[in-house]
Amino acid sequence: MTSSLNLSGRVAVVTGASRGIGYFLAKELAAAGAHVVAVARTIGGLEELDDEIKAEKAISGKGEATLVPLDLADGAGVDRLGGAIHERWGKLDILVANAGVLGVISPLGHVEAKVFEKVMAVNVTATWRLIRSVDPLLRLSDAGRAIVLSSGAAHSAKAFWGPYAASKAAVEAMVRSWADETKNLPLRINAVNPGATRTAMRAQAVPGEDPQILPHPSEIARKIAPLASPALTETGLIFDAPSERFLRYRLPE
Ligand code: NDP
Repeated sequence: MTSSLNLSGRVAVVTGASRGIGYFLAKELAAAGAHVVAVARTIGGLEELDDEIKAEKAISGKGEATLVPLDLADGAGVDRLGGAIHERWGKLDILVANAGVLGVISPLGHVEAKVFEKVMAVNVTATWRLIRSVDPLLRLSDAGRAIVLSSGAAHSAKAFWGPYAASKAAVEAMVRSWADETKNLPLRINAVNPGATRTAMRAQAVPGEDPQILPHPSEIARKIAPLASPALTETGLIFDAPSERFLRYRLPE
């Protein structure tokens, strides 16, 4: 699918690009020709990504990365990121808000306050702050695209998944409001449920599981990357990666 995706000349921010789904989404977008602004705290992971993008460029001539080591809980840092992108490119074409934390799998009554607050700070507050920082830049693109990672947990809300499920439900509510605010603009904004994927977060959530039964994050990234296409028409929906379908919300009565 991605082979037909052409993102030449387009600038993309990908958060959580040091490993897991974000790492492979950054690679996919770069392979399609985008300049990827790769954000995470782990410099080693970002450098590995940069090496892979450079190696791919040597073959295909496509893709570039700028590395931004940043803790997304640093709100002022997130604000500065938007300013720096404006100064360098004067616009942003693609936002992939992928960074997230699980917190802990535990009965709600046993969750430590600092763990709950961290989940909300990274998954919800930092996502909002990032949206606030780049919304004006996405509006300056001829086809701004936002891809915001959610989870099936937002809807299944299973026992012991409370803090994470609540954070992802909040993320989806923000996506819907933001999409509604911008529905008459060229901007297209969607949430994504990647489904269970072979990453560090999944291993933390379900430690007894054999990771080999899960799809590799590169496979999931290939399904999600087309949401960055200027040709995309959908907005305000959830893209369900396992079924490769958009799920529609029930409209209010
Ligand atoms: P990983 O734990 O493998 O990767 C998480 C990424 O987020 C890392 O790059 C990490 O970088 C970054 N990150 C975490 N906290 C911060 C922070 N404070 N500042 C900057 N970056 C941060 O997770 P996955 O790849 O599995 O998950 C990606 C997204 O997909 C998440 O939003 C997750 O909720 C969602 N998801 C995943 C599923 C799965 O089965 N894997 C299922 C459903 C949803 P670093 O530590 O270097 O800062």
